[in-house]
Amino acid sequence: MVFFIMTKSLSCADAGSDCGWVATAETEEELMTKATKHVEESHKELQVTPDLAKKIKSLIKDV
Ligand SMILES: [Zn+2]
Repeated sequence: MVFFIMTKSLSCADAGSDCGWVATAETEEELMTKATKHVEESHKELQVTPDLAKKIKSLIKDV
């Protein structure tokens, strides 16, 4: 069996934010953890609600 490791990427600009943050990770979970941390640190006006988490997930790209 062959496993392909896809790198997943997420950028804040894709979410419509005027922010240059970009992150990559091997799994969606890891990327979500990074994104949540970034939002908490840099976008204090935002709260990572289930709705926002869903939106962020939809912006994750395979690179
Ligand atoms: Zn940002």
